[in-house]
Amino acid sequence: MFTNWPRFIKNSKSGEKSISLFHIPIINLKSVNKNNAELFKKIGIFSVGSLIEYYPVSYENWTDVISLNDCTSKKCVTKVEVVEQHVLNKSKKIYKIVCIEDGNPDFILHIIFFNQRYIAESMKQGHKFLVMGDIKRRFNKNEFETICPKVKSLKFNLPFEPIYSQIKGLPSWKISKSVNEALSLLPDFVPDTLPKFIVDKYNLVSFDLAIRKIHFPESQEDIDKVKRRFMFEELLIWFIAVRKLKNRSDKGAIIENKLNEFLKLLPFELTSAQKRAINTCASDMKSGISMRRLLQGDVGSGKTAVAMALAFNTIMSGFQVAFMAPTEVLATQHFRNFTNILKLKDIYVLTGSNNKKERSVIIEIFEKGNSGIIIGTHALTSDGINFKNLALVITDEQHKFGVNQRSKLINKGNNPHTLIMSATPIPRSLAMVMYGDMNFCVLDELPLGRQKTETFVIDSSKRDRAFAFLKSKLKQGLKGYIICAKVEEDNEEQERITVEGYEKKFTKNFFKDFKISLLHGKMKSLEKEKIMKDFSEDKVDLLISTTVVEVGVDVPKACVIIIENAEKFGLASLHQLRGRVGRSNEKSYCILISENKFGPAGERLRAMKKSNNGFYLAKKDLEIRGPGEFFGKKQHGDLNPRLKFAFQDSKLIDNCNEAADKILEKYPNLEDVSLKFIKNKVQKFFNTT
Ligand code: ADP
Ligand code: MG
Repeated sequence: MFTNWPRFIKNSKSGEKSISLFHIPIINLKSVNKNNAELFKKIGIFSVGSLIEYYPVSYENWTDVISLNDCTSKKCVTKVEVVEQHVLNKSKKIYKIVCIEDGNPDFILHIIFFNQRYIAESMKQGHKFLVMGDIKRRFNKNEFETICPKVKSLKFNLPFEPIYSQIKGLPSWKISKSVNEALSLLPDFVPDTLPKFIVDKYNLVSFDLAIRKIHFPESQEDIDKVKRRFMFEELLIWFIAVRKLKNRSDKGAIIENKLNEFLKLLPFELTSAQKRAINTCASDMKSGISMRRLLQGDVGSGKTAVAMALAFNTIMSGFQVAFMAPTEVLATQHFRNFTNILKLKDIYVLTGSNNKKERSVIIEIFEKGNSGIIIGTHALTSDGINFKNLALVITDEQHKFGVNQRSKLINKGNNPHTLIMSATPIPRSLAMVMYGDMNFCVLDELPLGRQKTETFVIDSSKRDRAFAFLKSKLKQGLKGYIICAKVEEDNEEQERITVEGYEKKFTKNFFKDFKISLLHGKMKSLEKEKIMKDFSEDKVDLLISTTVVEVGVDVPKACVIIIENAEKFGLASLHQLRGRVGRSNEKSYCILISENKFGPAGERLRAMKKSNNGFYLAKKDLEIRGPGEFFGKKQHGDLNPRLKFAFQDSKLIDNCNEAADKILEKYPNLEDVSLKFIKNKVQKFFNTT
């Protein structure tokens, strides 16, 4: 509730003092009794002002009036005249109204009402009504019927009826009635919440109009314009807030750049993109101001080495590092990698496989000790884990986490430097919505000598040939993955059955000379770790797995991946899975098995065949799926629900970005009086983060 918003009750008599609608209790409305007022409170509405801000979630469109003959969808609107009114069963309150279509007496509509005496009795003979509902044709050609439809007298003609999120006892129409009364208390003109130069430049409807029309629009055009206006406002506030966050100069630990020492430990040469990224981050971390960076780089571009260099710098400067990965398999892999290369003893991994004692020892080390690296899953964010000296937080595969998980870990330190890493390239404008508070840096180069992974799409009749090919590679001492059936995360038992069934049916005999292991989410952490370790060493040749290996897993000797039912995966997942091979200079192959060559699934498979470029595929994914889907729930699960709408409209996002820049350029501290509303909201944003 923003009381500074200059909205006043209209002066009825001159000289009467004006008060904000936010200070008038909801009970003061004629349409609200004591009972209703309690219910309104339950949905967070205490004042007339907050009722006005309770926007409809959708609208019922009464403008498309069609003939009974054309009624096919579940919400058809037709205009009828009542000819007969019957009470079919008084005690059970069943009523039947017989109507003819307005202007077309050959078409007859039978309406049945249960329990709706009031409406049934209001439908008097000779009167005309609009009826909205699921209208079905009877066997007899010109007769139709419907049960408990919505009915509207022609006297009340609201073309679009607002639908509010309702609770028991407070139906949408009651809310609408009170909103209508509340709106009548608004002054003749409500001043705008945005500065005039912004409203003009981006062709927004005025706030005064928007606040009325959002409740009672007269056309679809009204709805679109008003929605755009409010979305603009919301996004603009978000963008200004995250820019302020990005430019906030919180003090950060001073970390020396030890790149040269790090290079001596590393078994390979860094790419110049990796060096650039390390140096950019290192100079942030040396500045005394806390770093916030997003590192984007396609699968296989070597993001881990960047993370490792920065972790090395941090531990060498005597501070603590927390490194969070989305799966235990990946956390353990990072741990092995870090210990092998850095050869430091203060590196720990925290997963489900630590026993209680180990766990408490590790926790104590970070609670009391000074420097060290802890690697783990989101379990690192749990309340029992605290840090004495946390100076760097790294999140791998950020797109697998929610924004809240990231900030929870960050809040365990005193403005630690933050590096988030993601292989999911997203268009810049959308990245601004997700990561507007971050500076970006990119790994736009793969390690030297990497060859393009060859991709094939086949149907299951050619599975044998694919297996034979895989076998020939295994014979050379290389390794392979078979990924089967995408299974929902909450159905891990099914996952086990699928993987075991697959192995019995297809691979047991064919690959009997090779060592095969199975991997799925249902396994114990320790078991998973052992299998991955065996696979990365030379004890296992072929891994049959579900998507637990989707992200991050790095076994350079693997050079063939076969993906069953490839049509079931999204493009991002397919690209990630393909990224499990092509991690050395050995030529690699990705074989997608699918019977489905049509529709969006076929389009995805063709895109995979065509390109190895994550950025191209992300753009394609966006086209095929639309932005709302593209991010998945985890990505924007924590964002304000109305920001999610914005994903549908990247032009709007661009406009808002530009507007945020313009405003801050002109008024860096939001000091102008026309920005009072925005300033308030931005302040609120900071108070809650
Ligand atoms: P991603 O960006 O997908 O996380 P990784 O960091 O796992 O990629 O690196 C992929 C593989 O390439 C690993 O085996 C890693 O050791 C290796 N690698 C990383 N950087 C280089 C480099 N500059 N030269 C050679 N190999 C590298
Ligand atoms: Mg990785």
